[in-house]
Amino acid sequence: MDMQYRRLGKAGIKVSVLSLGSWVTFHNQVNVDSAAEMMQAAYEAGVNFFDNAEVYAGGKSEQVMGEALKKLGWRRSSFLVSTKFYWGLNDKPNERNTLNRKRLLEAMDGSLLRLGLDYVDLVFCHRPDADTPIEETAHAMHNIVESGKAMYWGVSEWSADEIRAAWDVCHKYGWHKPTMEQPEYNLFHRERVEKEYARLYEDIGLGTTIWSPLASGLLTGKYQKGIPQGSRAALKGYGWLKDDLTNKDNLARVSKLGKIAKELECSLPQLALAWCAKNPNVSTVIMGASRVEQLRENLKALEVLPKLTEDVMKRIEGI
Ligand code: NDP
Repeated sequence: MDMQYRRLGKAGIKVSVLSLGSWVTFHNQVNVDSAAEMMQAAYEAGVNFFDNAEVYAGGKSEQVMGEALKKLGWRRSSFLVSTKFYWGLNDKPNERNTLNRKRLLEAMDGSLLRLGLDYVDLVFCHRPDADTPIEETAHAMHNIVESGKAMYWGVSEWSADEIRAAWDVCHKYGWHKPTMEQPEYNLFHRERVEKEYARLYEDIGLGTTIWSPLASGLLTGKYQKGIPQGSRAALKGYGWLKDDLTNKDNLARVSKLGKIAKELECSLPQLALAWCAKNPNVSTVIMGASRVEQLRENLKALEVLPKLTEDVMKRIEGI
């Protein structure tokens, strides 16, 4: 099935409903050659958005994506790249867990250097920062957009109130407004996207670029018999994911979802991704993959969309 494109909320820019992100994978599991292979497979399938962040692999994820982009040589206008700031790369007081003006402006330059780009398309405040006034952060993000170093700015895992406050201050002063939020959204994690943000889609035209659509792999069914070798939960530094990925109640639900996938003649990851894309307030579903085969499988998820009838959605809701 052909790729579908959705407006990023009320903005004019369109994102492919399926997109590709680099958290955990780029640098740690995926080198430049594999990154280029994956990005090419995605691009050929119509993916136009590639998600990144300063903090991923301590800056190396941006480097890998930058080198892959150089290798691929795509026309710059044909794709979108993002980055995000908050955690930082250094430990001094003004450089860690902050959205202060100095840090944001310097961070933007660092990311562009690593990515080898003149501008990113989307730039996010990766988390809220209670130690910096929202007005200061919003003004710095406005300045980044004004400078041409990013096209749109947004936030990630901010509360509805924080998003609204940022939007209001931008509205008041005529600054570029936050366009999108990047929240976690999957069959196991729904509250924010479906309830907390509900009125923001209409009121301020918020777009969403949702993350971990497979709950880090739980929704592939691969954890049903324990933690497989080479999987994310087996990686050094990601042990904190183990509880959720091996939780008995979660696995029982996953097994029931697997039966529905079988009936629909698709794989479980395809069903779980299509379920995310079914929500019209989701602008794009950011997928992760450690191998190109996973990505090729997942890219077929849109074929499942027409199979998600009211009846099937009700059964999934039951689970
Ligand atoms: P998912 O929940 O979809 O998990 C992806 C992982 O699941 C893969 O890396 C792979 O891990 C496994 N997997 C995927 N497809 C298959 C398959 N078909 N068969 C078997 N295993 C599969 O997404 P991510 O958690 O990776 O998040 C996606 C993107 O969202 C990130 O790259 C990042 O850009 C963004 N993100 C943003 C955050 C934020 O705070 N704003 C936070 C987290 C992510 P493996 O093979 O290693 O088991």
